[in-house]
Amino acid sequence: MKEFKEAGLNSEILQAISEMGFVKPTPIQDKTIAHLLNTRKDLIGLAQTGTGKTAAFGLPIIQQIDLNVQKTQALILCPTRELCMQITKDFNSFSKYLPKVKTTAIYGGSSMENQIRALDKGVHIVVGTPGRVLDLIHKKKLKIDSISWLVLDEADEMLNMGFKEDLDEILSAVTSDRQTLLFSATMPREIAQIAKHYMKDPDEISAGQKNTAAENVQHHYYLVQAKDRYTALKRIADVNPDIYGIVFCRTREETQDVADKLIGDGYNADALHGNLSQYQRDQVMNRFRTQHLQLLVATDVAARGLDVSSLTHIINYNLPDDPDIYLHRSGRTGRAGKSGIAISIIHSKEKFQLKMIENRSKIRFEQKKVPDGISICEKQLFNLVDKVVNIEVNKVQIERFLPYIYDKLSDLSRDELIQHFISVEFNQFLVYYKDAPDLNISLDTRRNERERDRGQDRNFDKNQDRGFVKPTRNGDFSRFFINIGSRDSMDKPNMIKLIASRIKDRSVEIGKVDVMKNFSFFEIESSYENQTLKAFEMAEFKGRPLNVELSNNRTMEMPDRKKPKKYK
Ligand code: ADP
Ligand code: MG
Repeated sequence: MKEFKEAGLNSEILQAISEMGFVKPTPIQDKTIAHLLNTRKDLIGLAQTGTGKTAAFGLPIIQQIDLNVQKTQALILCPTRELCMQITKDFNSFSKYLPKVKTTAIYGGSSMENQIRALDKGVHIVVGTPGRVLDLIHKKKLKIDSISWLVLDEADEMLNMGFKEDLDEILSAVTSDRQTLLFSATMPREIAQIAKHYMKDPDEISAGQKNTAAENVQHHYYLVQAKDRYTALKRIADVNPDIYGIVFCRTREETQDVADKLIGDGYNADALHGNLSQYQRDQVMNRFRTQHLQLLVATDVAARGLDVSSLTHIINYNLPDDPDIYLHRSGRTGRAGKSGIAISIIHSKEKFQLKMIENRSKIRFEQKKVPDGISICEKQLFNLVDKVVNIEVNKVQIERFLPYIYDKLSDLSRDELIQHFISVEFNQFLVYYKDAPDLNISLDTRRNERERDRGQDRNFDKNQDRGFVKPTRNGDFSRFFINIGSRDSMDKPNMIKLIASRIKDRSVEIGKVDVMKNFSFFEIESSYENQTLKAFEMAEFKGRPLNVELSNNRTMEMPDRKKPKKYK
């Protein structure tokens, strides 16, 4: 299909999308529209973010809504409030010339009353987050007996956010003669299971390769010492004066911390994370969308609902543990035909993570040097000069001040004038970058790091900083397996907290903790082996029995950073 009109969409929809600037269908649209208009079979669609999935399922659903039936006929589930609103807005644009088609959004964290009122009026299409959808089904406000289409958008993210049980319940409740569509950027095992349980012999389509990053994204990394991360970030921002990007951090605290530092240093930045009120988040997102903010510092979850297609950069202030998340992040740049750069600031111990991502996703990382002071100053200076040349001069407004200004400046020659004026704008920069140190890790610094590591414990400095574990470790440790991992929203600090809360005895030392996707490993002083196993007997996590066992299966370890793989 080359044009939308060959797809069998009606003129009202064609008119609306042409006004939105849609000319040609994207590959996922091409396939999904045809599928939905021609069959009632279930469908799994694999496509990354930014491939146009909303219109892919939205247009054919809108076209097929039966306006004689005042009941909810389509239910779209998505992971966040922001996505709900975005999808609803898109649907309203698609149905601009079909004003009788009604779409409403229902999501948590917002008054149920208004949402119930909207449902009571009768809507054909409901876009909702799983939790709130389920609440309203229970309250019998959302009626699901006439649903013809059930769409799971960003299914992998819904699972990541812990909506598995809600989804199970919704999928079991909705009438079985529905057509189910599942969209996901990745295909973890849990998604395959959902498909198996709740979908009938689904067709599978994918647009682009699975688990690969967009082609027009370059992947760069900067190797610095952990303590220089922030300084490196600043230099990257400084050497890209027109940067418009997201800086991804691991935790809410880190997000706020980095944003505060950037703001304090005069950058046009702000933080987006779950500790902000919904109002604050909306404000930040709006400022970012309208490009009043250049740098958004965000956690993965908070950035989820943000749909901005012109980002120049994605910066991984920290590498994500999961290669899929890396791809998700980097897929936010290089959209809509533009090119983008995904940057990772890493220290030498994280290099193996780059390898993991490379192996998994067939992308190649290119190492870049953290720019030095001179090249940054040069870049900024030229940028400033460009701005001066290109600025629109508002003659009328400045006219009356000019005689005075000319008079004041009359003693300066042209050259002096230029120098003075550059210095006004620029002295701060020059001072800051005068004698700026080289942040790149040389072979020497790397050797020193290794030496330090040898004397120290494995990679435990991070947790020591947080005060979670004691600084020295003596004696033997036993390694335990536990059946929860990052899929259950576990991370290292939380795992340590969980272990500490079960074992209770503060004198028991916790060793290395490796959180994997579906399970984790942790170490405890060997003399407490039995006590540890006992502590986890009958224990539950989010309603699921915890299973802790001694693990002697060394091959399941994370790659050991000190030993080259081949010796394992
Ligand atoms: P996804 O859900 O796959 O992440 P979206 O449906 O949100 O992607 O679309 C991403 C962006 O591309 C949106 O801004 C959307 O308006 C735009 N878009 C979608 N389809 C087309 C098209 N056929 N032509 C031009 N722009 C499109
Ligand atoms: Mg989408």
